[in-house]
Parts: sequence; structure tokens; C-alpha cells
Amino acid sequence: MKTQPTASHFIDGEYVEDQQGTAFESIYPATGDVIAKLHAATPAIVEKAIAAAKRAQPEWAAMSPTARGRILKRAADLIRERNRELSELETYDTGKPIQETIVADPTSGADAFEFFGGIAPAALNGDYIPLGSDFAYTKRVPLGVCVGIGAWNYPQQIACWKGAPALAAGNTMVFKPSENTPLGALKIAEILTEAGVPKGVFNVIQGDRDTGPLLVNHPDVAKVSLTGSVPTGRKVAAAAASHLKHVTMELGGKSPLIVFDDADIDSAIGGAMLGNFYSSGQVCSNGTRVFVHRKIKDTFLAKLKVRTEAMSVGDPMNEETQLGPLVSLAQREKVLAYIEKGKAEGATLITGGGIPNTVSGTGYYVQPTVFADVTDDMTIAREEIFGPVMCVLDFDSEEDVIARANATELGLAGGVFTSDLSRAHRVVDQIQAGTLWINTYNLCPVEIPFGGSKQSGFGRENSVAALDHYSELKTVYVGMGKVDAPY
Ligand code: NAD
Repeated sequence: MKTQPTASHFIDGEYVEDQQGTAFESIYPATGDVIAKLHAATPAIVEKAIAAAKRAQPEWAAMSPTARGRILKRAADLIRERNRELSELETYDTGKPIQETIVADPTSGADAFEFFGGIAPAALNGDYIPLGSDFAYTKRVPLGVCVGIGAWNYPQQIACWKGAPALAAGNTMVFKPSENTPLGALKIAEILTEAGVPKGVFNVIQGDRDTGPLLVNHPDVAKVSLTGSVPTGRKVAAAAASHLKHVTMELGGKSPLIVFDDADIDSAIGGAMLGNFYSSGQVCSNGTRVFVHRKIKDTFLAKLKVRTEAMSVGDPMNEETQLGPLVSLAQREKVLAYIEKGKAEGATLITGGGIPNTVSGTGYYVQPTVFADVTDDMTIAREEIFGPVMCVLDFDSEEDVIARANATELGLAGGVFTSDLSRAHRVVDQIQAGTLWINTYNLCPVEIPFGGSKQSGFGRENSVAALDHYSELKTVYVGMGKVDAPY
């Protein structure tokens, strides 16, 4: 691999190794080959990274937002120039097909740096508040040292979606990628430094569930932004709450995608396939409960089966490949166990359901799988599978499907396919979720807020709204007259 990072951590503008840290390997999910050997951060490395971020923060915050933005924009340009090599690295890290990474990963990271670099000069302004002869004003100030903790499905995008608004607002960051996908964030840190981000402003350290708490509990950390599962979110939010730190939680989902009988059926099938098979189904906002109106169920399933079986599964570095492996052997075992539960609990297997026989070797592949006749109480309809497994449920009435769509403690996303405009808006209005799509699915451009409700999390990434989560208001009251004290 040409783009291999040269050490485990990136701290204070340079690569750092500490052999004392627990050794772990980065594995290419398509073959099972070891592609890098790394070390988790020791407490000394955690201290070094946080100290660098703390030292760099005041000077970074003192720059004008325009000057910070100019540097972030340069980083965006470098990421775009190196899209091919970064996409290949992302494919090595995750196993996702190059066909996807080349359009969805580094480019969406570049969008984040371009967007937040661009809006920083205007979006960080405060207010002037007239109070008769007195007045007040507000300033939007950075929080300080922020910690980002990433999941393994979009390692580069997650590093950029957290880093860009944090840095634009004048914070510094220590980012810990998932132990499954350690490589991409290091390259992002390297590029930021090359673009002119001062040393210590964006640092990356490696580690797992034992390392994360060292960051979350550190007294010099002001904010923690996690992308991960709901159980991890509970632990991280509880730890952060014990220190009253700011938190953003981007957690899991079991999102409903509702297809009414007047929908453009081919678009709805396309949306459902993208919302279940993209990134081998390892997307938090996936529409994994596909509610299809009973009147169109047979047509929907027949066409879906043909299109699913035509998908090309295989070598992720082949530009033609549409479905790559899952991220790890453990994730494949988990997904296969859910498929077995689906069969055992009485769902009808329409297609897939196992390991593809067209793929040779030791990669962690699972066939694109569709279950029909799924009922609300089945395990596969209740729990996040995080694999290429689509569950199709039937419904008859709008009222009924809304109630069933909301009958989950999660609320990340949802979607509706219908040609009835009033119904589309009426239904999305009642779905309890942070992001909803009408007649499309899973599009998350940087301009729109993204995040969950209920147990899918809180806080928002992307859009102007993200800056609110990386800054706070400081209010200044200015007295213009004499102080009229009663004593
Ligand atoms: P995970 O919860 O296992 O791990 C996430 C990160 O948290 C990893 O970096 C891990 O090392 C770290 N971690 C684990 N325990 C920790 C602790 N106690 N303290 C601090 N850090 C800790 O999640 P995963 O398996 O890597 O990712 C898949 C999950 O992420 C899915 O549930 C998915 O829905 C979710 N996800 C959500 C979004 C979103 O934006 N809402 C995006 C992508 C993935």
C-alpha cells in the first residue's frame, strides 16, 4: 500500500510511536491479510496528545475565523487532490468497494473542511442586545480541547465531520479512530498539518474501549463527540456527565423506510437497496425496516430479488464491485447469527442468507440478503444488524405504519416513498427521528444537519448547527451609567 501511515499516532504535527502500547493489527477485510501493525496509546501517549492540543488551542482560537477557514479550505483541496490514494486507503481500512469510497469518503471529508472553513467567518458572530442606555453582546467561544471517538464504518468521514466544525470554531482535537480501522484518520491529520494547521491542533491516537475512557475522563478535555453503538454511547455519556462535559452522541438506528402503494416502485426499491446494502449495510442511518404496502408487496419483492441477485459482490478494489466484505470476522459472525435468527423466527428468506460462493479466499463477505414477512416482534426487526440484511414488513394503513415505525427506542432516521405530496409531509412529520428523507434515502450532504433523536443520540453534525455543539455563548453586559446600589 503506497499510502501507509508511518506510525501509530499523530501528535503535535508528527508521527509518534510508542512500542509500550498493546500491539494490534490492521486487517484488510477482503482477504484477512495484515496490512499494518500498530500500538494502542499508553497513558503517556494520551497525556502527550492532550497536552499538545491544550497548548495549541489558545493560539489557534486567537486567529481570525477567516484565517482558520483559509487553512481548512486548503486541507479540503489537498484531500480532493489525493482522493484516489485516500479512497484506496479507506478501502483497505474498511473493505468498502472503491466504487463507493471514491465518491463518498474522502470527498465528504473535503466537503466538511470546505464548508466549515467557508462559514466560520460569518457563522461565529455574536449578537448586540440593546438594553436602553446599557447594552449587552454575545460572543461565540470555543470549548477548548475536544475528543472525537470514531466508529469503523466511515473512518475518514467521521474524523473530518468531527474535526472540521471543531477546528473551524477554534477548538483543538484529539481523535481516536476505531481499533478496526486505524489508518485513515492518520492521513487526515497528516494532510491538515501539510495544509498549515498548526502543530497540536488535530491529533490522532490509537486504542480501543480501554483507551477511550482515558480521553473521556481527562480533566483537560471539554467535549466528547462519539460515533458508535448505543451501549458505548451510554457509557461515554455517563462518564462525560460525571465531569459535566459537553457531548455529541451519534449512535445506532433501526430506521423505518415506508413504501406506499402509490410510490414509484423502482425508485423505492433503489432507495431500499442503497439504504441496506451500501457499505455492506454498515451505515447507521440505514432504513433496515422496510415497510411495504401490502398491495404492492409481491411486485416489490419480485423486482427486488432480481436486482439484489444481480449485484456484483467481490474484490473491493475492482471498480465494478458493488458489495465488499464486512469490516471484520467478528462482524460477519454477528450478521450471520442474525440471519439464522431471522430464519428461526419465521421470516421468509427471499434471497441471500449466507456467505457468497462466488468469493474465494478468506474475506469477511455476506450475501446481500432480503427477508420478507418480517413482523415487529422478530429480533431482526428490533436490533441493529449492521450488515447487508434487508427486512421487509407489510402494512395496510398509514396510521398503523406510523405507530409501528415509531415503536422503537431508536430514532436516527427514516424515509417515505409516495407520490402523494401531502401524505409524504404528513408522515415524516410524525416519524420520531433526527433525519428523514422523502422519495430518496441516506443522502447526507454537509449543508444539512445530521443526528439522532431518542436513544440514537443527541447533538448534530454538519450544517451551521454543528458549530453550536463546538462552541458556547459568552454574554457581556455593559453598564453605561452609574451603579445605583441600595446599600
Ligand atoms: P462501538 O460502539 O463498538 O465503538 C465506537 C468507538 O467507541 C470505537 O472507537 C471504540 O473503541 C470506542 N469505545 C468503545 N467503548 C468505549 C468506552 N467505554 N469509552 C470510550 N470509547 C469507547 O461502535 P462500532 O462497532 O465501532 O460502530 C458501529 C456502531 O456505530 C453502530 O451501532 C452504528 O449505528 C454506529 N454509528 C453511528 C453513526 C451516527 O452518525 N449516528 C455513524 C456510524 C456508526
